[in-house]
Amino acid sequence: MKRLVIAVDCDDVLVSTTPYFVDTYNNTYGTSGTLEYAHSPDPSVWGASEEVILERWSGIKRTDGYKGLSPDPDEVKVLRNLAKIHELHLVTARKEEERDFTQAMLDKHLDGVFTSMEFVGWEGSKGDVCQALRADVLIDDSFRHLVSARDCGVGGLLWFGDYPWQTEDIGDMPIVRCRNWREVEAEIERIASN
Ligand SMILES: [Mg+2]
Repeated sequence: MKRLVIAVDCDDVLVSTTPYFVDTYNNTYGTSGTLEYAHSPDPSVWGASEEVILERWSGIKRTDGYKGLSPDPDEVKVLRNLAKIHELHLVTARKEEERDFTQAMLDKHLDGVFTSMEFVGWEGSKGDVCQALRADVLIDDSFRHLVSARDCGVGGLLWFGDYPWQTEDIGDMPIVRCRNWREVEAEIERIASN
């Protein structure tokens, strides 16, 4: 079996971030927004101007709930198995200022699983980071990051999750849908055996 370099996204792949944001937002501001609209600051859904919505999202990023989001036990098992054979890197669009609590989450639940943690930021290119890492695989819930990785020559593109906001059409993109970590494990095994 081939040893792969695998880049793993953090939010909505490693930890369940968007459902936490939507629940917290609705409970705090009395709205009834759904996951489908989680990534669009639509005033008619979130009950405020775009500017205020973005401020509120930023406020939720400062909560202990967000900082304490952690992976579930089944997923931890899969990641530990993968790390025995492959080289794993956390590649996240989180900002540099979120490094400390992200590192604390890894130390607590996934100690020794990741070789490095890369903070791309909201504007950065995951493709560039994957290329620098010589990543064979990117696991991400966000279609645009998979496109960016494809453009930078990453061959293994795993579209993680089964979320209402994943509305893009795969078209002829060489992307494999993995709805959960068991499917990820099977797909990685297939890629590594080829
Ligand atoms: Mg994500």
